[in-house]
Amino acid sequence: MTKTISASKVIKLPRRVGVCPACGADLWIDISEWTQLRNGAWIAGECGVMTECTKEPDLAHRKAWMAWYHTHMGTYPPMLWKLSDKAYRWLRRNYRFEVNNSDA
Ligand SMILES: [Zn+2]
Repeated sequence: MTKTISASKVIKLPRRVGVCPACGADLWIDISEWTQLRNGAWIAGECGVMTECTKEPDLAHRKAWMAWYHTHMGTYPPMLWKLSDKAYRWLRRNYRFEVNNSDA
């Protein structure tokens, strides 16, 4: 059973699917691209799904961001593709999106 939600809704990846490899925090899922299935339903695009550590400070807080970056740069980037792929597959199983033309 899939849920249909607005394409602008921000989703967290469930912890059982994946957590931040550097600090163990939850991950946001950032979707920048959607694909339409033959039946007309929209899913997240395979290359448009990225995960983001929920503990990442706003870039405007330069010091906090640099501290976050230093603890994450060794472990996070190498795992990113794998986590993003997991997130993509989880989304594909669970979610369909309402995409407005202005979002697509
Ligand atoms: Zn983290």
